[in-house]
Amino acid sequence: MLLRQNSRLRVHGIWQWSLPAWAGRLPDGRSYNTCPSAGACRHICYALVGRFRMPAVLAAHQRNLQLTLDDLDGWAHQMRDELTAQRFHGAAVRIHDSGDFYSSAYLCAWLSIIRATPSTRFYCYTKEILLFREHVEPDPPPNLSWIYSLGGIHDHRLTPNDRVADVFPNEEYIATTPEWTSQSRCDLDAVSGRPRIGVPANNIPHLRARQGQRRLGEMQREEDAARRRRRARRLTSGGCTRSAEQSSRPTAALDSPGALDNGASTDATTPAPKRS
Ligand code: SF4
Repeated sequence: MLLRQNSRLRVHGIWQWSLPAWAGRLPDGRSYNTCPSAGACRHICYALVGRFRMPAVLAAHQRNLQLTLDDLDGWAHQMRDELTAQRFHGAAVRIHDSGDFYSSAYLCAWLSIIRATPSTRFYCYTKEILLFREHVEPDPPPNLSWIYSLGGIHDHRLTPNDRVADVFPNEEYIATTPEWTSQSRCDLDAVSGRPRIGVPANNIPHLRARQGQRRLGEMQREEDAARRRRRARRLTSGGCTRSAEQSSRPTAALDSPGALDNGASTDATTPAPKRS
Protein backbone atom coordinates (compact mmCIF):
# COMPACT_ATOMS: atom_id res chain seq x y z
CA MET A 1 0.00 0.00 0.00
CA LEU A 2 2.97 2.33 0.61
CA LEU A 3 4.76 3.40 -2.54
CA ARG A 4 7.73 5.39 -3.76
CA GLN A 5 6.15 6.83 -6.89
CA ASN A 6 6.69 10.53 -6.25
CA SER A 7 10.16 11.24 -7.69
CA ARG A 8 10.76 14.21 -5.37
CA LEU A 9 10.24 11.94 -2.35
CA ARG A 10 11.85 8.84 -3.84
CA VAL A 11 15.30 10.45 -4.12
CA HIS A 12 15.25 10.88 -0.34
CA GLY A 13 13.97 7.35 0.28
CA ILE A 14 10.57 8.60 1.49
CA TRP A 15 7.54 6.34 1.19
CA GLN A 16 4.09 7.77 0.61
CA TRP A 17 0.43 6.99 1.08
CA SER A 18 -2.01 8.75 -1.25
CA LEU A 19 -5.74 9.35 -1.54
CA PRO A 20 -7.45 10.98 -4.50
CA ALA A 21 -7.31 14.75 -4.08
CA TRP A 22 -10.39 16.73 -3.10
CA ALA A 23 -13.75 15.65 -4.54
CA GLY A 24 -14.83 12.97 -6.97
CA ARG A 25 -16.84 9.83 -7.47
CA LEU A 26 -15.79 6.25 -6.84
CA PRO A 27 -16.45 3.57 -9.48
CA ASP A 28 -19.36 2.32 -7.34
CA GLY A 29 -21.03 5.73 -7.57
CA ARG A 30 -20.25 7.08 -4.12
CA SER A 31 -19.11 10.69 -4.14
CA TYR A 32 -16.29 11.73 -1.83
CA ASN A 33 -14.39 14.69 -0.52
CA THR A 34 -11.03 13.78 0.92
CA CYS A 35 -10.07 17.40 1.65
CA PRO A 36 -13.00 18.81 3.64
CA SER A 37 -10.97 21.84 4.76
CA ALA A 38 -9.55 22.67 1.32
CA GLY A 39 -10.07 26.29 0.34
CA ALA A 40 -8.18 28.29 -2.26
CA CYS A 41 -5.71 25.43 -2.59
CA ARG A 42 -8.12 23.55 -4.83
CA HIS A 43 -7.59 26.19 -7.55
CA ILE A 44 -3.88 25.42 -7.78
CA CYS A 45 -3.81 21.81 -6.59
CA TYR A 46 -1.06 19.86 -8.34
CA ALA A 47 -2.85 16.61 -7.41
CA LEU A 48 -5.88 17.53 -9.51
CA VAL A 49 -3.88 17.63 -12.75
CA GLY A 50 -1.13 15.80 -14.62
CA ARG A 51 -0.05 12.32 -13.60
CA PHE A 52 -2.44 12.32 -10.63
CA ARG A 53 -5.35 12.29 -13.12
CA MET A 54 -3.97 9.47 -15.24
CA PRO A 55 -6.57 6.68 -15.08
CA ALA A 56 -4.24 4.11 -13.47
CA VAL A 57 -2.98 6.56 -10.85
CA LEU A 58 -6.42 7.91 -9.97
CA ALA A 59 -7.79 4.35 -9.79
CA ALA A 60 -5.01 3.32 -7.37
CA HIS A 61 -5.69 6.32 -5.14
CA GLN A 62 -9.43 5.63 -5.23
CA ARG A 63 -8.77 2.01 -4.25
CA ASN A 64 -6.82 3.28 -1.25
CA LEU A 65 -9.75 5.48 -0.27
CA GLN A 66 -12.20 2.63 -0.72
CA LEU A 67 -10.15 0.41 1.59
CA THR A 68 -10.37 3.02 4.34
CA LEU A 69 -14.07 3.67 3.76
CA ASP A 70 -15.21 0.07 3.58
CA ASP A 71 -13.21 -1.48 6.40
CA LEU A 72 -11.16 1.05 8.33
CA ASP A 73 -10.04 -1.40 11.02
CA GLY A 74 -9.09 -4.02 8.42
CA TRP A 75 -7.11 -1.44 6.45
CA ALA A 76 -5.31 -0.25 9.61
CA HIS A 77 -4.44 -3.84 10.44
CA GLN A 78 -2.99 -4.40 6.95
CA MET A 79 -1.02 -1.17 7.14
CA ARG A 80 0.46 -2.11 10.53
CA ASP A 81 1.45 -5.51 9.09
CA GLU A 82 3.10 -3.91 6.08
CA LEU A 83 5.08 -1.53 8.30
CA THR A 84 6.66 -4.41 10.22
CA ALA A 85 8.82 -5.15 7.12
CA GLN A 86 12.51 -4.42 7.62
CA ARG A 87 12.51 -1.79 4.84
CA PHE A 88 10.37 0.52 6.99
CA HIS A 89 12.62 0.44 10.05
CA GLY A 90 14.25 3.86 10.23
CA ALA A 91 12.37 4.94 7.09
CA ALA A 92 10.19 8.03 6.60
CA VAL A 93 6.58 7.88 5.40
CA ARG A 94 4.71 10.91 4.11
CA ILE A 95 1.02 10.48 4.82
CA HIS A 96 -0.77 11.94 1.77
CA ASP A 97 1.05 13.44 -1.13
CA SER A 98 -2.56 14.04 -2.16
CA GLY A 99 -5.74 14.06 -0.09
CA ASP A 100 -6.00 14.79 3.61
CA PHE A 101 -7.36 13.40 6.88
CA TYR A 102 -11.01 13.34 5.83
CA SER A 103 -12.57 12.28 9.15
CA SER A 104 -11.83 11.84 12.85
CA ALA A 105 -12.04 8.06 12.52
CA TYR A 106 -9.54 8.00 9.66
CA LEU A 107 -7.12 10.27 11.54
CA CYS A 108 -7.43 8.13 14.67
CA ALA A 109 -6.77 4.98 12.62
CA TRP A 110 -3.52 6.58 11.45
CA LEU A 111 -2.62 7.50 15.03
CA SER A 112 -3.02 3.87 16.08
CA ILE A 113 -0.79 2.75 13.17
CA ILE A 114 1.86 5.36 14.02
CA ARG A 115 1.93 4.40 17.71
CA ALA A 116 2.25 0.72 16.80
CA THR A 117 5.29 1.33 14.54
CA PRO A 118 7.67 3.51 16.58
CA SER A 119 10.74 2.74 14.44
CA THR A 120 9.19 4.45 11.40
CA ARG A 121 9.00 8.23 11.10
CA PHE A 122 5.73 9.68 9.76
CA TYR A 123 5.03 13.21 8.62
CA CYS A 124 2.31 15.13 6.83
CA TYR A 125 1.09 18.46 5.57
CA THR A 126 -2.51 19.05 6.54
CA LYS A 127 -5.30 21.61 6.44
CA GLU A 128 -7.28 19.69 9.05
CA ILE A 129 -6.32 22.09 11.82
CA LEU A 130 -9.40 21.44 13.95
CA LEU A 131 -9.00 17.65 13.83
CA PHE A 132 -5.34 17.95 14.82
CA ARG A 133 -6.14 20.36 17.64
CA GLU A 134 -8.59 17.80 19.02
CA HIS A 135 -6.93 14.44 18.34
CA VAL A 136 -3.20 14.99 17.86
CA GLU A 137 -1.94 18.06 19.66
CA PRO A 138 -2.90 16.97 23.20
CA ASP A 139 -0.74 13.81 23.00
CA PRO A 140 1.19 13.50 19.72
CA PRO A 141 3.07 10.27 18.96
CA PRO A 142 6.83 10.99 19.09
CA ASN A 143 7.33 9.55 15.60
CA LEU A 144 4.79 11.89 13.95
CA SER A 145 5.60 15.40 12.68
CA TRP A 146 3.17 17.67 10.87
CA ILE A 147 2.92 21.09 9.34
CA TYR A 148 -0.26 23.05 8.70
CA SER A 149 -0.47 24.18 5.10
CA LEU A 150 -2.16 27.45 4.19
CA GLY A 151 -4.93 27.64 1.62
CA GLY A 152 -7.69 26.04 3.68
CA ILE A 153 -10.94 27.29 5.16
CA HIS A 154 -9.52 27.15 8.70
CA ASP A 155 -6.36 29.20 8.07
CA HIS A 156 -7.67 31.84 10.46
CA ARG A 157 -7.44 29.31 13.30
CA LEU A 158 -3.65 29.17 13.08
CA THR A 159 -1.50 30.89 15.68
CA PRO A 160 2.09 32.16 15.57
CA ASN A 161 3.14 29.01 17.46
CA ASP A 162 2.05 26.69 14.66
CA ARG A 163 4.44 25.28 12.06
CA VAL A 164 3.09 26.54 8.76
CA ALA A 165 3.74 26.01 5.02
CA ASP A 166 2.72 28.39 2.25
CA VAL A 167 2.95 27.98 -1.53
CA PHE A 168 5.00 30.79 -3.05
CA PRO A 169 5.04 31.74 -6.75
CA ASN A 170 8.73 30.84 -7.01
CA GLU A 171 11.97 30.15 -5.15
CA GLU A 172 13.21 33.75 -5.41
CA TYR A 173 10.14 35.00 -3.58
CA ILE A 174 10.85 32.59 -0.70
CA ALA A 175 14.50 33.57 -0.56
CA THR A 176 13.63 37.26 -0.20
CA THR A 177 10.92 36.79 2.45
CA PRO A 178 12.33 37.05 5.98
CA GLU A 179 11.69 34.09 8.32
CA TRP A 180 10.58 31.73 5.53
CA THR A 181 12.72 28.78 4.43
CA SER A 182 12.33 26.70 1.30
CA GLN A 183 11.65 22.96 1.51
CA SER A 184 13.05 22.40 -2.01
CA ARG A 185 16.19 20.63 -0.78
CA CYS A 186 14.24 17.85 0.91
CA ASP A 187 10.55 17.51 1.74
CA LEU A 188 11.46 16.45 5.30
CA ASP A 189 12.76 20.01 5.89
CA ALA A 190 9.09 20.99 6.15
CA VAL A 191 8.87 19.29 9.55
CA SER A 192 12.27 20.16 10.99
CA GLY A 193 14.16 23.37 11.52
CA ARG A 194 12.50 26.75 11.14
CA PRO A 195 8.71 26.86 11.49
CA ARG A 196 7.81 28.93 8.39
CA ILE A 197 8.21 26.82 5.26
CA GLY A 198 7.91 28.10 1.70
CA VAL A 199 6.95 25.67 -1.05
CA PRO A 200 7.68 26.93 -4.57
CA ALA A 201 4.73 26.48 -6.96
CA ASN A 202 4.93 23.44 -9.19
CA ASN A 203 5.98 24.05 -12.76
CA ILE A 204 2.47 23.66 -14.19
CA PRO A 205 1.87 26.69 -16.43
CA HIS A 206 -1.91 27.10 -16.06
CA LEU A 207 -1.75 26.71 -12.27
CA ARG A 208 1.13 29.20 -12.07
CA ALA A 209 -0.87 31.64 -14.18
CA ARG A 210 -3.85 31.25 -11.83
CA GLN A 211 -1.68 31.89 -8.78
CA GLY A 212 0.14 34.87 -10.29
CA GLN A 213 2.44 36.60 -7.83
CA ARG A 214 0.33 35.74 -4.80
CA ARG A 215 1.12 33.34 -2.01
CA LEU A 216 -1.52 30.69 -1.39
CA GLY A 217 -2.24 32.13 2.05
CA GLU A 218 -3.05 35.45 0.35
CA MET A 219 -5.36 33.71 -2.12
CA GLN A 220 -7.23 32.20 0.83
CA ARG A 221 -7.56 35.57 2.58
CA GLU A 222 -8.93 37.07 -0.65
CA GLU A 223 -11.42 34.20 -0.94
CA ASP A 224 -12.48 34.61 2.71
CA ALA A 225 -12.94 38.37 2.23
CA ALA A 226 -15.01 37.88 -0.94
CA ARG A 227 -17.24 35.40 0.88
CA ARG A 228 -17.75 37.82 3.77
CA ARG A 229 -18.65 40.61 1.35
CA ARG A 230 -21.22 38.40 -0.40
CA ARG A 231 -22.71 37.36 2.93
CA ALA A 232 -22.84 40.96 4.10
CA ARG A 233 -24.59 42.01 0.87
CA ARG A 234 -27.18 39.27 1.29
CA LEU A 235 -27.83 40.23 4.88
CA THR A 236 -28.01 43.94 4.02
CA SER A 237 -30.45 43.33 1.20
CA GLY A 238 -32.54 41.40 3.73
CA GLY A 239 -32.56 44.50 6.02
CA CYS A 240 -30.31 43.09 8.72
CA THR A 241 -27.67 45.81 8.77
CA ARG A 242 -26.18 45.03 12.19
CA SER A 243 -25.49 41.40 11.30
CA ALA A 244 -24.06 42.51 7.99
CA GLU A 245 -21.53 44.68 9.78
CA GLN A 246 -20.63 41.89 12.14
CA SER A 247 -20.21 39.37 9.37
CA SER A 248 -17.88 41.67 7.45
CA ARG A 249 -15.29 41.68 10.23
CA PRO A 250 -11.85 40.92 8.81
CA THR A 251 -10.67 37.35 9.15
CA ALA A 252 -7.78 37.01 11.54
CA ALA A 253 -4.47 36.45 9.80
CA LEU A 254 -1.68 34.17 10.93
CA ASP A 255 -0.20 36.82 13.17
CA SER A 256 -3.53 37.53 14.81
CA PRO A 257 -5.29 34.32 15.84
CA GLY A 258 -8.99 34.46 15.18
CA ALA A 259 -12.02 32.53 16.26
CA LEU A 260 -14.26 32.11 13.22
CA ASP A 261 -15.40 28.62 12.37
CA ASN A 262 -16.61 27.57 8.95
CA GLY A 263 -17.99 24.23 10.17
CA ALA A 264 -16.40 22.01 7.51
CA SER A 265 -17.72 18.54 6.88
CA THR A 266 -15.42 15.71 7.92
CA ASP A 267 -17.07 12.93 5.98
CA ALA A 268 -15.14 11.71 2.94
CA THR A 269 -18.32 10.61 1.20
CA THR A 270 -19.85 14.07 1.49
CA PRO A 271 -19.58 16.01 -1.77
CA ALA A 272 -17.22 18.98 -1.84
CA PRO A 273 -18.69 21.91 0.06
CA LYS A 274 -20.26 24.58 -2.11
CA ARG A 275 -18.73 28.02 -1.62
CA SER A 276 -21.25 30.76 -1.29
S1 SF4 B 1 -5.85 19.89 0.51
FE1 SF4 B 1 -4.08 19.35 -0.79
S2 SF4 B 1 -4.77 17.64 -2.07
FE2 SF4 B 1 -6.60 18.61 -1.19
S3 SF4 B 1 -7.31 20.10 -2.76
FE3 SF4 B 1 -5.96 21.21 -1.33
S4 SF4 B 1 -3.88 21.09 -2.23
FE4 SF4 B 1 -5.18 19.51 -3.24
